[in-house]
Amino acid sequence: MATNPTDSNATEVPTDPAGEISFAETALTLGGKSAEEAQRTGAIDKADDEVEALFSPQYQTVNSPAHRAVWDRELPMELFHCEPPETPPHVQKVMDDSLAVVRRHCQAGTVLDDQNKISVTVLDDLAAAGYWGLLVDKQHGGSGAPFGSFAPFLTQMAMLDPTIAGLASVHGCIGAVDPVRTFGNAQQKQQFLPCLASGERLSAFALTEPCAGSDLTALRTTTKLEGDHYVVNGEKLFITNVVPGRTVGLVCLIDERPAVLVVDLPEAENDHFQLVQYGLYALKHTHNCGMVFKDFQVPASNLLTPPKGDGLTIAYHGLNLGRVALCANAAGTMRTMMAGMLPWAHYRKTYGATIANRELVQRRLGRMAGLITGCDALVQWCAGLIDQGYRGEMECIVAKVFGSEAQKEAAVELLMKTHGGRSFLHGHTLGDNVHEFLAPCIYEGEGEMLSMGFFKSLVKQHGKQFFEPIGMAVQKTGIKKPSPLNPLHAWALKDALWPYLKWMTSQKIRSISTPDVSSLPSAQKIHAEFACDQLQRMPLEISGTMSKHQLKLVDRQCRMSELSQRVQDLIVILATALYAGRHDDELVRAAGDVLCQDLTRGLMGRRPSDRDFRTAVELGKAIAEGGFASIAGIEAEEILMPYDEA
Ligand SMILES: Cc1cc2nc3c(=O)[nH]c(=O)nc-3n(C[C@H](O)[C@H](O)[C@H](O)COP(=O)(O)OP(=O)(O)OC[C@H]3O[C@@H](n4cnc5c(N)ncnc54)[C@H](O)[C@@H]3O)c2cc1C
Repeated sequence: MATNPTDSNATEVPTDPAGEISFAETALTLGGKSAEEAQRTGAIDKADDEVEALFSPQYQTVNSPAHRAVWDRELPMELFHCEPPETPPHVQKVMDDSLAVVRRHCQAGTVLDDQNKISVTVLDDLAAAGYWGLLVDKQHGGSGAPFGSFAPFLTQMAMLDPTIAGLASVHGCIGAVDPVRTFGNAQQKQQFLPCLASGERLSAFALTEPCAGSDLTALRTTTKLEGDHYVVNGEKLFITNVVPGRTVGLVCLIDERPAVLVVDLPEAENDHFQLVQYGLYALKHTHNCGMVFKDFQVPASNLLTPPKGDGLTIAYHGLNLGRVALCANAAGTMRTMMAGMLPWAHYRKTYGATIANRELVQRRLGRMAGLITGCDALVQWCAGLIDQGYRGEMECIVAKVFGSEAQKEAAVELLMKTHGGRSFLHGHTLGDNVHEFLAPCIYEGEGEMLSMGFFKSLVKQHGKQFFEPIGMAVQKTGIKKPSPLNPLHAWALKDALWPYLKWMTSQKIRSISTPDVSSLPSAQKIHAEFACDQLQRMPLEISGTMSKHQLKLVDRQCRMSELSQRVQDLIVILATALYAGRHDDELVRAAGDVLCQDLTRGLMGRRPSDRDFRTAVELGKAIAEGGFASIAGIEAEEILMPYDEA
C-alpha cells in the first residue's frame, strides 16, 4: 500500500534563521529574473520543504536513490531496482474482472457513447468490478492494491483502452482518492472514501486556472469561511473527468495560502457552479471542462488539513503517483502502436519485399521495444519506492518525462513513419489519436519545467550546505565582488569557504567506485557500470555550474535543463540495465540493451557502431517474426486496433 507520509518520525526542515532570501530559495527556483519572482517561487520552495517534512528522514529527497546516486561517495546500487510485490488474490480478481469488462466492451464496440465519451455503462460496469476502489484501503470499501501492483496493471489496461487506464489515475492518484486517503481525518475518510471506492462518485483534480498552469503562485480561486461553509469564487481550466455530480479535489486560496477542499459538485449546473465547454483534441474520450464558481458553498468540514504544509503539499503528493501512472500508460500505449506496426509491415511490399524485411523498419521495432522496456523498468522501480515509503519526487519526474517523451517519439518517429500516408486516414491509430499521444508531455507538468524541478531538488541541499553560508558571509563582510584569489577576501571568508574547499578537494582526489554488478549479463553490466561511473562524475560539474553562475543560475535555464536531462538519462540507463538484466526473456534483455546503447551514444556524442545497428535490427527482426509477446506479454492480435484501409 502506498505509504501515508504522516509519519511520527517526521522532522522539521530548518528554515533560514536569518530570515533572508536564501540561495536555495532564490537561485534554485523555477522562475527567474525579478525579486518578485524570486519571492513568489520561494513560496513554492517552502511548500516543497513542507512536503519533505511529511516523510521520515530516510525517505526524503536527499536520501532518495536519484539524489544519492549523484552526491553519495558510493552509489547505492541496491536502491535502483525493486522487485514487484505479490499481488493479493482479491486485488488480482478486481484487476482481472476490470480487464474483462473493458475487453468485453471493446469487442462489442460499446466503449464509447453517442458523444464519443467513455460510456456511463462502462464506468458502472468497472465500478461493479471494483476498479475505482483499487487504491482505497479495505476498511473504506476498496481493495488496497499495492502501488507496485496497480501501476503495471494500468499498462495492461492501456493496451485495451488508454483513456480508461488514465481515468483510474485521475480518480485514484491525482483526483480525490489520494488526497482524502493520505491527508483526510477519520471523519473525512468515512464520508468520502466508500463512495469513491464503489464508483458511486468518480473524482477529478482541479488545480489549473486560466492564469495559473506552470506558475502555481498565480492561483486566483479563493475561498472564505462564512459560518460553517467555505464560499468559493474563481475559475478552473482543463479539468479532466469533470461532469456534474463528480467529487473534485479543488485547490484554492484561503488567506492567500493554497488549500484543498473536497467538493461534491451539484447534480446540475446552477447560478453558483457552471461548466465551461470548449473543443479539446486531447483526452477526447473523456470530459474535460473549465469550471466557474460564484459564491459556491462547501461545508467547512471538507477542508483537508495536512499535518504540515498546505494545498500544494497535497497536490504534490498525488501528482507523484500520477506521474508513474502516466509512464505505465505510455508503456501500454506503445505496445498497441507496436502491435499495429506488425501486420502492416508484413503486408506492405516495396521493391519486391515486405517492409518488415527492411533494416530501417526493423530498427524502429527494436527502438520501440527499448522505449517500452525503459518505461516498464521505471514503473516497477518508482512504484516500488513509493510502496517502501519514499517521497520519490525526483524518480517520479524521471518516469514522467521519459514516459511522455518516449510515447511522443514512438508515435511520430516509429508508428507514423512505418505506416506512411495511411497514418493520416480517418480510423487510423495515429490519425485518430495523435493529440492523445502528445498531450502527456504537457499535463501533470510540462517536461522541461519538470526537469528544472528535478535539477532544483538535486542541488538544493548542496546549495544550502556550502553556497548559502558563503553568500551570508559575503553579505556580512560587505565585499562587493568576492574573489577567492584575493588573499584579503579569502581570509575574510575563510570560515565559510573552508568546508567547500574541503569538499572540492575530496571530490577531486576521490577514486570512482565500481559497483558490484557481476550478476548481470555482460551487456547490462557494461551499461550499469557506465551509468554509475558517469553519475559519480556529476558532482564536480554540477557544483562548478552553481559556483560559476551563483544567484544567476536561476536564469541559466538551458544549462539547468541540460544537466538535469543528462542525470535523468543516466538514471534511466541504470534502472533499465538492472531491470532488463534480471529478466529471463532474452528479447527484453536485448530491448534494454538497445535503449541503453541509444542513451549512451546521446550522452557521449558518439556515432552508432555496427554493433549498435545490429542489436536494434536483430531485435526488430525477432519481434516481427513472432517475438512481440515477449515484449508485450500477449499476442499482437489481442490488442490490434482496427482501421479502415484505403
Ligand atoms: C489534456 C489535458 C488535461 C489536463 N488535465 C488537467 C486536470 O485534470 N487538472 C488540472 O488541474 N490541470 C489539467 N491540465 C492542465 C495542465 O496541467 C497544464 O496545461 C500544464 O500544467 C501547463 O500549464 P499551461 O497550459 O497553463 O502552460 P503555461 O503555464 O502557459 O506554460 C506554457 C509553456 O511555457 C513554458 N514556461 C512556463 N513558465 C516558464 C518558466 N518560468 N520558465 C521557462 N519556461 C516556462 C513551458 O514550456 C510551458 O509548457 C490538463 C491539460 C491538458 C492539455
